Amino acid sequence: MINNYSNFYTKREKTSTLVKSLQEPESGNINNSNQSRTIVVTSGKGGVGKTTTAANLGMSMARLGYRVALIDADIGLRNLDLLLGLENRILYTAMEVLDGQCRLDQALIRDKRWKNLSLLSISKNRQRYNITRQGMTNLVKSIQDLGYHFILIDCPAGIDVGFVNAIAPAKEALILTTPEITAIRDADRVAGLLEANEIYNVKLIVNRVRPDMIKSNDMMSVRDVQEMLGIPLLGAIPEDSHVIISTNRGEPLVVKKRLTLSGIAFENAARRLVGKQDYLIDLETPYKGIFKRAQDFFFGSEDVD
Ligand code: ADP
Ligand code: MG
Repeated sequence: MINNYSNFYTKREKTSTLVKSLQEPESGNINNSNQSRTIVVTSGKGGVGKTTTAANLGMSMARLGYRVALIDADIGLRNLDLLLGLENRILYTAMEVLDGQCRLDQALIRDKRWKNLSLLSISKNRQRYNITRQGMTNLVKSIQDLGYHFILIDCPAGIDVGFVNAIAPAKEALILTTPEITAIRDADRVAGLLEANEIYNVKLIVNRVRPDMIKSNDMMSVRDVQEMLGIPLLGAIPEDSHVIISTNRGEPLVVKKRLTLSGIAFENAARRLVGKQDYLIDLETPYKGIFKRAQDFFFGSEDVD
């Protein structure tokens, strides 16, 4: 049974915003191009989908016409470049920028498909570099000055010094979890840490959802997870083997011509994140309805000016 976790979470105030978040689309649209939003993608448990989410949300927002910079802050274990198929194009990283060996724009690698999407890696693989909180903040400030609308920071695993430094410049956070009790407990811990660091604008993405398992009462529903954490829900992403295929191809799901359910769900989350008036896709409704809605996303292209 999956409904026995009600006493699990105690410390943080539960806002119980599920019904609200299901009914009311997200707000927070960028109205003027001088404003920039810096959002850190976090989780407590590793391997729950931070990098996958950063790549897909970044690509989706770029497709909507925003200028997006992705920062791979997973120092020593970077892989956002692989998901975007940009691994051969990284000559410089933030390390060289901070050491004065290159300009910032040389380290910001432009995506091949969408030139308004850029990737900055903090360090090369197997290279250790202890970027400070101040270093991260300076870096983000410089990227904002280049006119980016969104800066998404892909956090390292864990909640040690790498995490603390990576969240320094962010005003907003996304917390990723899967519908498993271990991941949810760790997500709750991260929520507390974000709050302690004065990041109050936090939204939840539940990844690797299996509607069939929810139906047979073998997995917590998205609603269960949201209620436990008490964080407004931005999106729910289904378990989908296409995620692995897209990782291996270096091609985010959201660029595919033939839609997959996970691609649609990421697109939906991205649209809600930028403030478009989209309702949350309910993974537990029949697929037919979801594909019907997906058509609205892709045939009503709305760009920012
Ligand atoms: P993190 O950055 O949090 O460590 P990743 O984004 O690297 O997590 O994802 C970890 C693994 O899980 C990857 O192999 C990825 O392909 C897989 N994965 C993530 N989301 C999904 C999903 N919705 N369906 C199937 N596999 C997924
Ligand atoms: Mg990662």
